[in-house]
Amino acid sequence: METIKKLLLTILSGIFLLLSSCSNKDTSEKTGQNPFIKGVYGNPATLIEAGYRFDELGMNAIFVRSISLDQELYDAAMEQQQRVYVEFPTLLGRNYVEDHTEAWPINEKGEQAQPADWFMGVCPTAPGFIEFRKNQLRDILNNFDVDGIFLDYVHWHAQFETADPILPETCFCDRCISLFADEKQLELPDADIPETAEWILENADSEWRDWRSHILNGWVSSMKMIVREMQPDALVGIFYCSWYPDDHDSALYRTLGIDVEAFIEIADVLSPMLFHKMKERSPEWVGEYTDWLGGLIEASDDNKPLVWPIVQSHDSPVEVTPDEFRRVMLEGSKPPSSGIMMFSDQSLLENPEKIEVMRQLYVEEISND
Ligand SMILES: [Zn+2]
Repeated sequence: METIKKLLLTILSGIFLLLSSCSNKDTSEKTGQNPFIKGVYGNPATLIEAGYRFDELGMNAIFVRSISLDQELYDAAMEQQQRVYVEFPTLLGRNYVEDHTEAWPINEKGEQAQPADWFMGVCPTAPGFIEFRKNQLRDILNNFDVDGIFLDYVHWHAQFETADPILPETCFCDRCISLFADEKQLELPDADIPETAEWILENADSEWRDWRSHILNGWVSSMKMIVREMQPDALVGIFYCSWYPDDHDSALYRTLGIDVEAFIEIADVLSPMLFHKMKERSPEWVGEYTDWLGGLIEASDDNKPLVWPIVQSHDSPVEVTPDEFRRVMLEGSKPPSSGIMMFSDQSLLENPEKIEVMRQLYVEEISND
């Protein structure tokens, strides 16, 4: 009899634990509430280590780099009613290309492209790399019940987080050239890479740009498919370069391969990286871009993604003062924005005045709905 009682108790407490572990995320989703998202991007565990609590700072979401996500942070986030969004470094991969040279982006001269400052991209058609990233995404989704996956570095090899961008022509590896020719049914000259690249850029430039953009969209779609299969309620967001289409001779589309209208059709959330200081823009530009993006989404027939800008608090290349940080947070929170976060936790800890600015905004000023 005693044994049966113990068994029943064990089963009941198991059910209770299961129910309570599900309850955190379900409350607002089941009641249909969509609070304004108030987040911190980076490795938010550093805030906890410094003695802060997410809930006391008025936050309701963390945006954590995949490499910084662990059980301890996840449990703390759950305990403090935070939504957990995981940043996924889609096409970033210096270590990968060093170990797998077949995935190294090739420039128009047929040479391995140099790192673009700190960024080293990967050839997005390398089959081994595609599998590698898909498996990484599956691992995250197997280990953690998340509110969303945010794809980062969804662009061809280049550097845009600066006023003076690095914009190489890639990728002219044999695989990319052959996939491009097949897809566009083009008869390419029987020549070496430099000559073939020259021919493509002179004779099939628009087909080339279009193909490159489709390759990126294919990445987003296949990552989204994995998320939908494994965690249907999780959102798929994209962090992307916030140049206007005409900036830098249309490099957003021509070099990075980004077609914002195509992203609008696929993503659940768009998070333009509105790093005003790095791009030598005014704080007002943050609000202007957000408004412009809203217009583009409004004009879209089908999908209407949410807009959650990421703004700059990081002192680069010069200081972002606490007051300026406050201004870009407010600009990025204007409609149609329904969420805001900053780059990054580290910059807040380096200047606790910025933590106070964020707390005041999140607790007192930015509305919850
Ligand atoms: Zn390639």
